[in-house]
Amino acid sequence: MKIKLAKTSGFCMGVRKAVEQALDAVHTRPGPIWSYGPLIHNPQALDLLAGKGLRVMGEIPDESEARAMKKGTVIIRAHGVPPGEKERLVNLGLEVIDATCPRVKGVQARIRKHTGMGASAIIWGNPDHPEVVGLMGHARGRGYVVTKPEDVAALPDLDKVILVAQTTQNQQKFVEISDAVRARWPEAEVFDTICGATQKRQDEVRRLSKLVDAMVVVGGHASGNTERLANVARNEGVKTVHIETEDELDPAWVADSQTVGVTAGASTPNWMIKRVIRKLDRLARRRDHSFRGVSRRILRALILSNTYVAFGSGALCLAMAIVRGYDPQPAFFGVSFFYIHAMHMLNLFLDKESSEFNDPDRVMFLEKHKAVLLSSGLFSALVSLFLAFTLSIKVFALLAVMSTLGLLYAIPLVPKNLPRQMKIRRLKDIPASKTMSVSCGWAVLLSLIPVLSPGGRLGWDSVMAAAAVFLFVFIRSALGDVMEIQGDRIVGRETIPILIGEKKTYLLLRIATALVVLVLILGFLLKVFSGLALMLIACAAYAAFYQYLFRRDQVLSSVFFEALIDANFILAGVLACLWNLASGG
Ligand code: SF4
Repeated sequence: MKIKLAKTSGFCMGVRKAVEQALDAVHTRPGPIWSYGPLIHNPQALDLLAGKGLRVMGEIPDESEARAMKKGTVIIRAHGVPPGEKERLVNLGLEVIDATCPRVKGVQARIRKHTGMGASAIIWGNPDHPEVVGLMGHARGRGYVVTKPEDVAALPDLDKVILVAQTTQNQQKFVEISDAVRARWPEAEVFDTICGATQKRQDEVRRLSKLVDAMVVVGGHASGNTERLANVARNEGVKTVHIETEDELDPAWVADSQTVGVTAGASTPNWMIKRVIRKLDRLARRRDHSFRGVSRRILRALILSNTYVAFGSGALCLAMAIVRGYDPQPAFFGVSFFYIHAMHMLNLFLDKESSEFNDPDRVMFLEKHKAVLLSSGLFSALVSLFLAFTLSIKVFALLAVMSTLGLLYAIPLVPKNLPRQMKIRRLKDIPASKTMSVSCGWAVLLSLIPVLSPGGRLGWDSVMAAAAVFLFVFIRSALGDVMEIQGDRIVGRETIPILIGEKKTYLLLRIATALVVLVLILGFLLKVFSGLALMLIACAAYAAFYQYLFRRDQVLSSVFFEALIDANFILAGVLACLWNLASGG
């Protein structure tokens, strides 16, 4: 069974911003923090936010209630509110974070402008939906809600008319409504305010429905836009199910399907989509006994057990030794392989909180094979120290220091009973520390192993090799941070994309890729690197390629994308071995 995920599934821009603002508020502001109404139509995401301390304010308190309440912060959700309600919240002395989606704000502004000039606003949508309630407020008594074309005939006589739509409505039906409005008011100004995000999702579901036997639509049962996506798929004639969680997916329902499409509403968090994909993937794996299926299972186990990335580190270590003219010793490969395996393994067990959301597949794998994996991590740590010792006492000392630092990364160093405001309790709590420490760790280790081994020398070649490794690993790790941004936000971790935003992170990744090329060329021109450096430019090109793939497809299923990324290190090792063979090494 193949699984095809719609590229546009999950949080739209407006919902993502609102959730981010809510998470930032619960992590950084003193409580209490409320959302005015449920922040999004997804019970699992709401439960999670409630667990983080976000309360839901059902109604605006009156003045006596407000006096009894402690001061706090209220978040206006992406749907927006009538202007009077925002004013009342501010007047009660509450801090107000307006997380109204910019697109909804645009519709509100349009209504205000035209009703201010004497027009009446016909709003097509669900009269009980908070967005429509908010839009009606902005019409200042000149708004009329219609739910179907027949409602237009029942409207009173109006002079000037505009028509807008609730942003998540269906495009085809909007044409019918606008025809009905124009038939009655030929001069009516019609504004198609259906959000591009909604339209894109519906168009993609139509396209995807033609390629699959069954469609799984993930999202809250109360989410209108999710239900509409399911209806679009049903109207295309494909077998469709709308589920809220992976537990609602009946294995028998997909048993006969060869290709299953997955999409999700604009209020469905990535971690829930990942859980559904993981379940489908598990069902698919059970059925697939072909050579390809078995190979995929082996590759998956290698990736989830961190053996694959450890192999990549060994390969990169060899490449960085060969490019500087060292004899490639098997122990160079062994020390980096076992060290990286040990550190990745042990840190995963020490730091599972964000993986629950970012990588549920890995967490399940870790839980299932806990004893074996933990023992393999400890075994790898010992073997790496032993191999380091066989190289030299200096390599052993380097590894001992780095192993201590690696283990300290996720362990609390500040006691729990110190003030809550003390946010940095572990090294991993330092903003952007994950990407920077991983990149620095690899850079120091991979560049210094040959230097501290017998016959090694410290020079500019070591500095340039460290720079190249740092940049390669930085690209890998920062891209992983973008992939894991939702889970990291949930646990309050400040990674690079959370600190500077996704766009700037992509820019940083492009700069890092260009710098790798520069370092390799400069190393060659300064004669500290051999001609292999020019061949390694292929690895920078490969890094640019997978960044492009990621941005194009917004990959959610991280396991095989991780394989694609880490293949870059293996590519470097293969190129280096070929170079070594060709140059008679
Ligand atoms: S669907 Fe569009 S308008 Fe509605 S919140 Fe999302 S981005 Fe904003």
